[in-house]
Amino acid sequence: MKVANTIEEVQAQIAAWKADGLTIGLCPTMGYLHEGHASLMDASVRRCDRTVASVFVNPIQFGPTEDLADYPRDFEHDCELLEAHGVDLVFHPEPSEMYADDFCTYVDIDVLSKTLCGKTRPIHFRGVCTVITKLLHIVDPDCIFFGQKDAQQLAIIRRMVRDLNFRVDVIGCPIVRESDGLAKSSRNTYLSPDARRAAVILSRAVRLGQDLVEAGETDSRRLTDAMKAKLAEEPMADPEYVEAVDGLSMQPVETFKPGDLVAMAVRVDGTRLIDNFTVGDPKISFE
Ligand code: AMP
Repeated sequence: MKVANTIEEVQAQIAAWKADGLTIGLCPTMGYLHEGHASLMDASVRRCDRTVASVFVNPIQFGPTEDLADYPRDFEHDCELLEAHGVDLVFHPEPSEMYADDFCTYVDIDVLSKTLCGKTRPIHFRGVCTVITKLLHIVDPDCIFFGQKDAQQLAIIRRMVRDLNFRVDVIGCPIVRESDGLAKSSRNTYLSPDARRAAVILSRAVRLGQDLVEAGETDSRRLTDAMKAKLAEEPMADPEYVEAVDGLSMQPVETFKPGDLVAMAVRVDGTRLIDNFTVGDPKISFE
């Protein structure tokens, strides 16, 4: 496995692979990798001849009061995981390699970025779209892999790729969970033992939502009210939103249908966690 810190190194390797007619998969990450990230690498290795992972804590997707400085990092461990999962090239740039001092060109997306996480993170998706655009230009992959855990991000990237005519297949991968149901996340490391125990309330609320859908519920308000009531059972949990939105446009729906998204952001003892399910997908299970 090669590690590249510069765009030039990446592009030289990509050119050599393309000259040999090899297909390339790209898995963008912010590092502090876990089995959720690894599932993206596995999907890419299965589908493409060569897999590139990026490990880059993208400063421009963090708001001024967010956790950029504290975001967990462990590049050595990341490389062990990436190598074990068959990644061929890791792109690990410094922020200055990605953003010149006078950088001022952004890719912004309207409508889809205004709901759910976009309400409290107004510049987040602009930062995401900009860095993914840069990575798509640098790596020029055949396929790019994202987790369903960040469902709004996945919908936004699909729309950006369609709207701006990027020639890449966007592949969504299912949420990987801990055995008790908590969605794996680099930010879970912020949780104290008590908060970690409390955090299972998110997946309990997801499961309740799925049970209600299975029982025939189609009214968004009734569904999300029931999920909020479940979250309220946990005193450490402070919901930011629980919403049902159209699966493509991310706009609120009154009555939901298969393919729509039911998503939540919840602060547990101050740590912001997200979870979701897509209506019609298999129900989650946990111990
Ligand atoms: P991050 O490093 O948090 O930016 O995540 C990088 C990619 O990994 C994103 O596409 C995430 O959606 C995906 N990812 C993170 N956690 C999980 C998980 N538990 N299951 C599936 N994909 C995940």
